[in-house]
Amino acid sequence: MAFLDHIDPGNSGGSVPTPASPFEKRPLKPVEYLCPVCEQSFSLLELMRDHRAKSHPLKRPYFLIDGKACSQEMVLYKPLSPESVIFEDTKSARLDGVEYESTDALKKQLLAQQVGRRRLELFYQAYSVTVDLVFNIIPETELQAVEECFYSIFDSDELSADHLKRFYCSIKANGLDGNVYAGGLGCYLTAVLVKDRSPEVALSYERFLEKFGEAEDKLANIDRALAQAILLAMQFNRNVFGEPGSLVRAPALQSAVSCLQSGRFKDVHQSAETWSRFPTDVITELLVAFCTQGESYRREVVEELEQQLRQNRVSGYDSAKLAFVLMVYFYEVEDFHKAEQVFRAVKFDPVLGTRAAELMDSDK
Ligand SMILES: [Zn+2]
Repeated sequence: MAFLDHIDPGNSGGSVPTPASPFEKRPLKPVEYLCPVCEQSFSLLELMRDHRAKSHPLKRPYFLIDGKACSQEMVLYKPLSPESVIFEDTKSARLDGVEYESTDALKKQLLAQQVGRRRLELFYQAYSVTVDLVFNIIPETELQAVEECFYSIFDSDELSADHLKRFYCSIKANGLDGNVYAGGLGCYLTAVLVKDRSPEVALSYERFLEKFGEAEDKLANIDRALAQAILLAMQFNRNVFGEPGSLVRAPALQSAVSCLQSGRFKDVHQSAETWSRFPTDVITELLVAFCTQGESYRREVVEELEQQLRQNRVSGYDSAKLAFVLMVYFYEVEDFHKAEQVFRAVKFDPVLGTRAAELMDSDK
């Protein structure tokens, strides 16, 4: 079990000054406005409104958060801002049974008290919509306390079932059980142990992706560098190579992602002192190191990667990544015969296959 060097301690440790207000963080990505009827995506609210008026003339009220229509019950992990909340085609509205003159007045009331469960009722002529908002916003101090537990245990080169047990004990001792962030980290660490076939974990290997999925759900709404970097690592695991959020400070992992996007190695020079770390599974660690630690390192470990690919004990996602980076490597060292060989292992992959084929063509 090993660690990736990728988190800037300035963003992940508990001992760092926090932003003045957690309400002022930049959004991770530009807001998309989804048509609430057909889910077509628009960059501007006005464009979405035009489309909806033309394509779906029947009106009903909608309540949108960050461009997405809410229905029935919504659990909120992040505070609402005035910009994030929009009422569409709402003639009148109630909040917790109280009627408001305008949606602006209602919005003000709603934003002023973001705790517990609040019921919104929106009306457009005979049409009414009810949305229950359940506020579950974790205070910044609690998020930091979870990370302090995390780093107090995962500061060495090891992850074992025993470490995980100690993490849960520490979470409990600090009164943080039930905390979504702690739960998400726990799911992630369990998934890593399962993926590495730890004999101490009762879950079978096949279930590691399920556990990653659970962790992704829990960590998706946590605005912390550690949570966002772990999310990136989990997406890497299922071959989703997206843009990292603005909080992520994970140069090695980001560079490995870009290698799988571009077919070029980009080495990352960093020392363990300037970046703090979190545990990852053996194959992810191997892939990230291979993509980022330089030519001579690649020469040293290339056989290990070939072996992992041949042994056929890795997930389909990982075997595609292994074949892809090996192909990039063999091209770089002009071993075209071997490049051709590993290409066969990736060419039918739905994500990396096309890219691999393009690379083969361009280098010929
Ligand atoms: Zn539509």
